[in-house]
Amino acid sequence: MIETRLFIDGQWQAPIGNGSRAIINPADESVIAHAADGTRADARRAIAAARAAFDGPWRHGTARERARLLHRIADLVDRDAGELARLETLNTGKTLGESRTDMGDIAATFRHFAALVAAESGAVNEAPHHVISRTLREPVGVCGLITPWNYPLLQAAWKIAPALGAGNTVVVKPSNLTPLTTWHFARLVEELDLPPGVFNLVTGGAEVGAELAESHDVDLVSFTGGALAGESIMKAASGNFKRIGLELGGKNPNIVFADADLETAVDYALNAGFFHAGQVCSAGSRLMVEDSIHDAFVERLAARMARIVVGSGFDKETQMGPVQSLHQHEKILAMVQAGIAEGARLVHGGKRPAGDVFRRGFWLEPTLLAGVTAGMRIAGEEIFGPVITVERFASEQEALSAANATPYGLAAAVWTRDLDKANRMSRALRFGTVWVNDYHPYFPEAPWGGFKSSGIGRELGRIGLDEYTELKHSYINLAPKPMGWFGA
Ligand code: NAD
Repeated sequence: MIETRLFIDGQWQAPIGNGSRAIINPADESVIAHAADGTRADARRAIAAARAAFDGPWRHGTARERARLLHRIADLVDRDAGELARLETLNTGKTLGESRTDMGDIAATFRHFAALVAAESGAVNEAPHHVISRTLREPVGVCGLITPWNYPLLQAAWKIAPALGAGNTVVVKPSNLTPLTTWHFARLVEELDLPPGVFNLVTGGAEVGAELAESHDVDLVSFTGGALAGESIMKAASGNFKRIGLELGGKNPNIVFADADLETAVDYALNAGFFHAGQVCSAGSRLMVEDSIHDAFVERLAARMARIVVGSGFDKETQMGPVQSLHQHEKILAMVQAGIAEGARLVHGGKRPAGDVFRRGFWLEPTLLAGVTAGMRIAGEEIFGPVITVERFASEQEALSAANATPYGLAAAVWTRDLDKANRMSRALRFGTVWVNDYHPYFPEAPWGGFKSSGIGRELGRIGLDEYTELKHSYINLAPKPMGWFGA
């Protein structure tokens, strides 16, 4: 049985009060680990260690050294990718293939930021010859990094790589449901002999995250998770006006026009909706289909859904695993019922799959609800499970207005062969990512984040590093002499 501890100031430590929390395998509800349950007091210890490390020599290290560090982390993630993927599948339920993809993406994220950090240099401004005027980027300070349960280590990597790369110190708090890969990652960091306090891990519940958001010794908090926690973090962060990054939820329209390649659009609608059992912030859970192909599309989609193999993430044939927690299981089923009560038509799924293997664990059939209209709750709220809702539309303008009419703005997709329409829609959709004739691809090199209530700031890309820096104008007069403005 895995027993995890906290990693604070370069040491593995028990939490104050010795609390621990059982970590559950979502496929069979068995206990797979006992994770240290940190408290506010532990968060304070980690923040103090990160503060001391930031005020020491660490932040004066060279960009080249930090780039090398990120490369070494990427190599260690590659080395342990098999074990990390196993832990991710065990803890989240996603298929091993998906977890392996995550680990490849994590190593790529560290290498992306390594390349950016190595290329970093101050910009030289226009100034008189006897003056050195430079725009410098400096680390922000102590960063509190709070991550969710759906992509535990990947979301952490998007934050840890740029934070360390820019010369900050970090306190990482993974979700209390899925701490295992972040814990293993801390063991990899331990191999690097970083100065104590540069990297700290405090597993635990919301109060650990709240301490990171409130503490005046934390200079930046980057959070990925739900809107409620995001709102409370934003309020708490105002105490010392700390920098914030928020990656929140989404309600992402996947819009199919009648001129699209039907087979391909149906195929991708499955990826969009059922990758990681729909527990993806950018899941294409809100399918919108043009009138003239609507019925054929729904029929084809339901037929394909009936062939999705649900099962343990460790089985080779499995295409979709369980959802991650009992809470999610109950919430998703309640949303499906709410949709039916609002007048949606259940076309497929909507319940626990039949069979002995599905009796324990948080299993759900892939689910399709048709006849959904823009005003319904299921069309506007994040379901975060294997549920696709279908709305029909009659015109480009109608599709656009309905798609934009949610508070969210994370991702959207458009399916059409008409390039002009594709371009018009890409520009008019108010979302941080718009895919055309594809769904879900992202790259460490491209920015990720949401418009409107889907968040504040961006991760990845060039900006994903800049978010972890302060800009400074440094002006040095090499030959000072009296100015004479007020006379001699
Ligand atoms: P959550 O908000 O419940 O928890 C996220 C993290 O915040 C956890 O570590 C949790 O312990 C901590 N936390 C909870 N309350 C807190 C508080 N008041 N103060 C500080 N920390 C607190 O979210 P979740 O259920 O783990 O994740 C699912 C959500 O994350 C979904 O809404 C999903 O859309 C979103 N998400 C967004 C992205 C993105 O890139 N935009 C990516 C993945 C997930």
